Amino acid sequence: MKLVLEEMCVKAGVKIQLHTQLVGTVVDKQKRVVAVITESKSGRQAWLADRFIDCSGDADLAAQAGCQFDVGINSQCECQPMSLMALLAGPDPAAISDYVREIAGEKAKSNLFKLMKSAGINPSYSAPTLRVLHGNIYSLMSNHEYGVPAYDAGKVTEATIRARAEIHQITSDLRKLGGPWSDLSVVATAEQIGVREGRRVKGRASVSADDIVAGTKHADAVCRVNFGFDVHNVRPGEMFSGQDEIEAEVARYRKLGAKAYDIPVGALIAADVDNLMMAGRCISGDFIAHSSYRVTGNSVPMGEAAAQVSVASLKAGKMPHEISWPVSQQS
Ligand SMILES: Cc1cc2nc3c(=O)[nH]c(=O)nc-3n(C[C@H](O)[C@H](O)[C@H](O)COP(=O)(O)OP(=O)(O)OC[C@H]3O[C@@H](n4cnc5c(N)ncnc54)[C@H](O)[C@@H]3O)c2cc1C
Repeated sequence: MKLVLEEMCVKAGVKIQLHTQLVGTVVDKQKRVVAVITESKSGRQAWLADRFIDCSGDADLAAQAGCQFDVGINSQCECQPMSLMALLAGPDPAAISDYVREIAGEKAKSNLFKLMKSAGINPSYSAPTLRVLHGNIYSLMSNHEYGVPAYDAGKVTEATIRARAEIHQITSDLRKLGGPWSDLSVVATAEQIGVREGRRVKGRASVSADDIVAGTKHADAVCRVNFGFDVHNVRPGEMFSGQDEIEAEVARYRKLGAKAYDIPVGALIAADVDNLMMAGRCISGDFIAHSSYRVTGNSVPMGEAAAQVSVASLKAGKMPHEISWPVSQQS
């Protein structure tokens, strides 16, 4: 995917600069972003543009620009846990088929959890997922890091160190089971711990959990979502345990059920700054709705829509919120 995306961008003439962090913005008196400030090996740089799209997941750009945002489910900002992904190698998938998601299906997770428990392993994620990717190469998701703010580099670092240690410990303990597991080893851990949830920027429109229950449709939809509620637990404990008021609220929505619903273009347009759009998991919505719309299949059309609206607004000499969607209808 990295190769395909790079090829597409190069072909389209997109200027890319890797290994570069956005650290600030310049906002003018009309509340428009004039420039973003980045830091990298090249030092500090300012990037000027007339339109900006925040695809940082954590809404770093919007937050730096002074936009209002929400985090998590309550005033303590309790949010979804982070997970560090790992690549493992070794066993023949047929020899451990009961534990491989692609072979045993959904029950592979509970099978693996039980196996881990029997081996004295107590994973921080109670639905550990082993997927075979290619030959004898697997991905493993087996850890949850709770209560880590996505925008606190120190805490994200501590979470990463704990998660990496846990992955190596789990792998080492599984190896001790012997048989097909004796070949199991860690090939790589992810470059960056996986962040499920960061800031959700206040938009011109928003997506709510009730929209998902009702299956709300919009004439200005950028995509139709068919993915249900996916809240990993917010505090340590087994998934779907109903252990506290947060779990009870999530369980209530899960029971009500999700219907196909639309993301309106306004959820991608920042309310507080005129020339800024968002795409991906940082768009405007509530905690429970976010658990559904945040996934990859929705992030992609959001990115396409944000780009189309930005370009159309430039061509029309208007702001993104003044552009009607779909863009093709007015051009
Ligand atoms: C462990 C895990 C498993 C998941 N499994 C699935 C799954 O099976 N299917 C599915 O569809 N979804 C899954 N998701 C959800 C999905 O990956 C995300 O919701 C989706 O990637 C969100 O896309 P995004 O582009 O908004 O954010 P991200 O994918 O998080 O991308 C944001 C990018 O911005 C960069 N960035 C952040 N801040 C800055 C900054 N200040 N300066 C420069 N760059 C910055 C980050 O490095 C990152 O590359 C999973 C998520 C996690 C964490």
